[in-house]
Amino acid sequence: MTSVLHVPAFEDNYIWLIRGVSPDRVAIVDPGDAVPVLDALARQNLVPVAILCTHHHGDHVGGVGELLARYDVPVYGPARERIPEITHRLSDGDRVRLDALGLEFEVLDVPGHTAGHIAYYGHGLLFCGDTLFSAGCGRLFEGTAEQMHRSLTRLAALPPDTAVYCAHEYTAANLRFALTVEPDNSHIRDYQRQVGERRARREPTVPSTIALERRVNPFLRVYEPAVHRAVAARAGHEPASDTETFALLRRWKDGFR
Ligand code: ZN
Ligand code: FE
Repeated sequence: MTSVLHVPAFEDNYIWLIRGVSPDRVAIVDPGDAVPVLDALARQNLVPVAILCTHHHGDHVGGVGELLARYDVPVYGPARERIPEITHRLSDGDRVRLDALGLEFEVLDVPGHTAGHIAYYGHGLLFCGDTLFSAGCGRLFEGTAEQMHRSLTRLAALPPDTAVYCAHEYTAANLRFALTVEPDNSHIRDYQRQVGERRARREPTVPSTIALERRVNPFLRVYEPAVHRAVAARAGHEPASDTETFALLRRWKDGFR
């Protein structure tokens, strides 16, 4: 009964609409722009009951004010970030009960991309903003590599069939990097072919699953000997820990074209 609709925004953002027991009610996740959301709501006769934000970046919260001018709904978001419109400040272990949808989500602190970034998990769905991308992860704008590594390790431990709703369509570019790190990983090649087909049809590659990410996402695979070796060769020294492997891998990706 639960379904998730995607609303493309800007160049490569996805705003998610979560539908539960009621066919015409939705929660809006990370509305960076109100215009495409209002358009999607009108076209499909949907009424929002809540807004959920993962972090403070403009491409995730920029549309909140305009949506509130039209719909008087609660705004959930990270307790430790400055988002003026938030009515419910959340941190790790908190629960978001959306009675109108018959849904409840658990809040996970996942710092790294930003210092207070949170994710929403429930009903086999994960809304992780800019923390975990398909075949990649967010840049370290505010947090440390250690924090991001811990956040991703935590997400990787969710049930394998969890659907991963990240906030950007970065999969194809991420896979080019993933294949550079692990040229012999056949899962990456298979996925790259599927992603190419889906993009050619202009379909989103998101959601993926935790199981798939564990097979193809180098940032969840720093424990793998092949990833460790590639990072060591690139850096010219043996990383002393998985956290250092992660930090070097993230830096490698930052300079990758
Ligand atoms: Zn961001
Ligand atoms: Fe973003």
